Amino acid sequence: MNAQAQRPTAGSIDALLPQTQCTRCGYEGCLPYAEAIAAGTAPINQCPPGGAATIAALATLLDRAVQPLNPVNGNERAPLVAWIDEARCIGCARCLPPCPVDAIVGAAKFLHTVLADRCTGCELCIAPCPVDCIELRPASADPALKAPLHRQRYVAHKARLASRAAERQRQIDVQKAVVRAGSAPSQ
Ligand code: SF4
Ligand code: SF4
Ligand code: SF4
Repeated sequence: MNAQAQRPTAGSIDALLPQTQCTRCGYEGCLPYAEAIAAGTAPINQCPPGGAATIAALATLLDRAVQPLNPVNGNERAPLVAWIDEARCIGCARCLPPCPVDAIVGAAKFLHTVLADRCTGCELCIAPCPVDCIELRPASADPALKAPLHRQRYVAHKARLASRAAERQRQIDVQKAVVRAGSAPSQ
């Protein structure tokens, strides 16, 4: 077996990441960061939710030296989940698009709720809320147990966005074709 064949895959690297999908590493989620590490374009110390334990696991897998967490990416802290104060929620739905795992339920003009067992504590919903009614509370479950579910929901979320974008593009192409047909000189 040659050295290339033995290089850890993005999948095996992603398996060691916490699946918080918070983007603090500078990538769109855990899998894109794993892909960058696998490609040799990202260091292994950029994941604050994983912290020292994840860096140690990555160092072992990749046979690299352990490094301290890069403070530029944030600090390690106890796992959290989001909670919405429903009495203050105005139902604007701005918190829905940023959630990488679709953990918030609600519709425009209705109050919204976080499904705590789905929430990764990524904090991406906090800033878009115009009335600051989302807060972070300590997580009761071990995040490592929820990582496979978070991975699954992140992949499903991305697939749904890609499918919507493809459908939007298809509709634009149809409209363009109609306009082109309408402006073509008649024979
Ligand atoms: S948990 Fe956040 S910082 Fe860590 S790899 Fe995933 S997206 Fe990046
Ligand atoms: S509810 Fe908020 S904190 Fe929880 S996963 Fe979604 S965006 Fe992240
Ligand atoms: S962004 Fe805030 S106010 Fe708007 S729906 Fe979400 S929780 Fe409610």
